[in-house]
Amino acid sequence: MSVERTLSIIKPDAVAKNVIGQIIARFEGAGLKVIAARMMHLSRADAERFYAVHSARPFFKDLVDFMISGPVFVQALEGENAIQKNRDLMGATDPKKAEKGTIRADFADSIDANAVHGSDAPETAKAEIAFFFPEINIHSR
Ligand code: UDP
Repeated sequence: MSVERTLSIIKPDAVAKNVIGQIIARFEGAGLKVIAARMMHLSRADAERFYAVHSARPFFKDLVDFMISGPVFVQALEGENAIQKNRDLMGATDPKKAEKGTIRADFADSIDANAVHGSDAPETAKAEIAFFFPEINIHSR
């Protein structure tokens, strides 16, 4: 195992539910450190660029509409095996299929409004962290 970084987004549904702290507590409880964070309201152009990989999918417009429906809380997380650890904490994309005790099982309402985003591989983690955080705003520790 190695120390990795991953990008997490607490999506508008979870921000609206006022569970930012509860979600971050799960990351910290699993040994992940928040090394950068910002709250922001994505523009349509930002959301389209961030999710460009899904641009041909039928749910793309709804996904973008949802991601810009309210503020999001974006973090870079660091720790051993951070990418997979975050994915395990998140649970399956569809909260109905997410394991008990995962963030999506506990806080998400649907496959569209599913509480969190997490990078899925080292290359995407690098690109997604760079999308939101210049290196000067990252506090590795
Ligand atoms: N999504 C959706 N409908 C679908 C599949 C995905 O709205 O049928 C959204 C959902 O918000 C998901 C995001 O698109 O989190 C990205 O999909 P992906 O398959 O990459 O899932 P994730 O990596 O977020 O679990």
